[in-house]
Amino acid sequence: MKIITILSAILFSFVSCSQQPKKIVNDFSCIEEDPSGIGIGIGSDLESQLLGQFGKPISLKEEITDGDSLLVKIKKESKLISTGPEIQVLYKVLWKLKNVIKSPKGFDYKIYYIQSDELNSFTCGGKIFFTTGMYKFCKTEDEIACILGHEIGHNELGHIRDNLSRIKTMEDFGDAGMITAGLGKLLITPFNQKNEVACDFYGLDLAVAAGYDACQNISLWKRMQEKQGSTSILESFMSTHPASSSRANCSRNHLDINYQLSCPN
Ligand SMILES: [Zn+2]
Repeated sequence: MKIITILSAILFSFVSCSQQPKKIVNDFSCIEEDPSGIGIGIGSDLESQLLGQFGKPISLKEEITDGDSLLVKIKKESKLISTGPEIQVLYKVLWKLKNVIKSPKGFDYKIYYIQSDELNSFTCGGKIFFTTGMYKFCKTEDEIACILGHEIGHNELGHIRDNLSRIKTMEDFGDAGMITAGLGKLLITPFNQKNEVACDFYGLDLAVAAGYDACQNISLWKRMQEKQGSTSILESFMSTHPASSSRANCSRNHLDINYQLSCPN
């Protein structure tokens, strides 16, 4: 229960739209130049190594079980929508994306549509949660694909596993665990910004592979940027994520260097 309480607080993670290059290049210089970021580019790799060496190992089954528990909690707190055209779109986009995952870890991806004005999407153990507020904000299926691809990235890239490992290390080893977990907590709130951009890249790659217009991730983040600061709905979300302008720039750069796509301004 304790884990789930923490999870619900830390897993809010938004974001998260041919031909495939032989090797994807992930260039993070776009965020390292962002003066508004704190701790960008440091902490994540080091902390991941520490968790790998000293942290409590987390199995795929444990991740899935924690996702199940999160679903139980969400069902108690929120109304889930299971019928109608919008959930059908979400099912379709997720289906297309999960079919193009390279070397999948083995998650059985499912989507849950939450009645909420909050602009949010988050994930745990292959379960992806998406709010009606987020659906309304998205203008196209391509934008939805970029967000869902981002959330798939958190699972496939091991970010959820690292978060669970951090929490369980803290619980199991007390002070000793704090050495690794405390460091992570300090630098990673909730996923570090480099991880967020890594998931943006992952989502773009999936979206391109599934035939979506990934350039639309840029317009999505530009609209986010316009909203930023003008409404409280984005406050909690924005405080833990890279600046929207950085994410738009990172996306543009990623599509250019990997797919030679010149996205419109
Ligand atoms: Zn995220």
